[in-house]
Amino acid sequence: MNSWEKLLNERAIFAAHLKKTILSEVRVRFAPSPTGPLHLGGVRTALFNYLFAKKQNGKFLLRIEDTDQTRYVPGAEDYIRESLEWIGLETDEDPWKGGDSGPYRQSERRDLYWPYAKQLIESGHAYYAFDTAEELEEMRERLKRAKVPNPQYNSTVRMTMKNSLTLSADEVKERLDNNEPYTVRIKMPRNEEVRFHDMIRGWVQVQSTNLDDKVIFKSDGMPTYHLANIVDDHLMGITHVIRGEEWLPSAPLHILLYRYLGWEDSRPEFAHLPLILKPDGNGKLSKRDGDRLGFPVFPLEWTDPESGEVSSGYKQKGYFKEAFLNMLAFLGWNPGTEQEIFSLEQLIEAFSIERVGKAGAKFDAEKTRWFNQQYLRDRSNESLVDILIPYLDKAGISYEKEQLPAFVGLMKERAAFVEEMLEGRYFFEQPTSYPEKVLSKKWKEKSASQLYSLAEEFESVDSYDAETLEARFKQFLEEQELGMGAVMPLLRVFLTGVGSGPGVFDVMAFLGKEESLARIKLGIERQNNG
Ligand code: GLU
Repeated sequence: MNSWEKLLNERAIFAAHLKKTILSEVRVRFAPSPTGPLHLGGVRTALFNYLFAKKQNGKFLLRIEDTDQTRYVPGAEDYIRESLEWIGLETDEDPWKGGDSGPYRQSERRDLYWPYAKQLIESGHAYYAFDTAEELEEMRERLKRAKVPNPQYNSTVRMTMKNSLTLSADEVKERLDNNEPYTVRIKMPRNEEVRFHDMIRGWVQVQSTNLDDKVIFKSDGMPTYHLANIVDDHLMGITHVIRGEEWLPSAPLHILLYRYLGWEDSRPEFAHLPLILKPDGNGKLSKRDGDRLGFPVFPLEWTDPESGEVSSGYKQKGYFKEAFLNMLAFLGWNPGTEQEIFSLEQLIEAFSIERVGKAGAKFDAEKTRWFNQQYLRDRSNESLVDILIPYLDKAGISYEKEQLPAFVGLMKERAAFVEEMLEGRYFFEQPTSYPEKVLSKKWKEKSASQLYSLAEEFESVDSYDAETLEARFKQFLEEQELGMGAVMPLLRVFLTGVGSGPGVFDVMAFLGKEESLARIKLGIERQNNG
């Protein structure tokens, strides 16, 4: 084929894909490997798959990719399921509820893969390799000594190794008959340009010479990720593969596998999502960044089954799932409008893959906090009370339940998390000390008498509510020819023990006449007694 023909051929394949996409039902999958807790990047991949599917009335599948049994971590699978459940990404088919194209765990599909590996060997696109670990190591050393920049098992090296391309047919047969361990490697073509269209990146092209002869089937009788992934996506009727950028280097191999298996016309479309970058500097966001800068990188808390080490999770940190989800949606996507607050339903409506960028998305912990704050403000006081009570109990604060809606109402403008409302514990407890900074600046000779008079004024109001108290306070300042700064800061610290918080008159109304006047007097006495 000359290059024009090749281009036309590619266009034809592309058009066939488009047709298929428009005509058939969209089926996408989230395909995590249970090798540890799901990173927030993984949850974002799940979310984008979900949004893409639901927008088009398609199906969202979950497939557990556990071909590498050496990396299997107990509990990781449950963690994946619980994470998706927490944020409400309901799957249509998965290992637990099943579906028409199951099983959905690759370990349960193990017998299915060999015929495809065999087909690739028979058609000359793959070969048996008998090299031992030592021989592979030797090869790498040899290439390193020869200053080969990227030592790998490839089209040049393969002819110096022990495989079905270099050994005689008889010898290969003998080794197989003797059950000698082998792997199956893909035979990467030499000097071929592998081109494919990515929904986010446009046309991607890679020289096959730069690719290695990846193992597609292992000596333990299991396929590797590459083969299993392609076979399963094909058999499960996946129409679009939406996954993280870290899989982009594997995509050319996947394209070739589809071609060699004869599935090119029904191959899924690819979309590689942008990386999630650390908040400072460049590079992928890692757990270490979270530890260093104090934010979770996991949706749920995770206890490492081996070391017992506990990693924090968004849920347990007090994030609302809506805020977590909303934040994730903006990691790489934007609606093209000013709107920032989206429910899951609204995201489905607004989402399009065209609005996903290819540049890495910087993670912003402050923004995540901001999202939580927006959702907190939006909640009813009653629903926040339910969340608050366990925190109050844990902190040993005694309260009257009827007081809590009002308390939450006063604190919610100042908190991004329900737990932060505990800063207002003075609503339930007398202060034990006052901030020295305020006292040293504001406590003057006349302060005691001024505050006593003010307390008397408050004592005599008809109705002990914030508005009346404030009006009386202003009147007092006028009569006494005092500025706000003379008594207000003292009043606040005697009432609350801290220098800032909700409006002082709101605090007084909440505490009631008896308690607030007692606190003011206690403050004066404490000062008088030095
Ligand atoms: N099992 C791969 C992972 O853990 C899936 C990659 C893909 O979606 O193709 O991310």
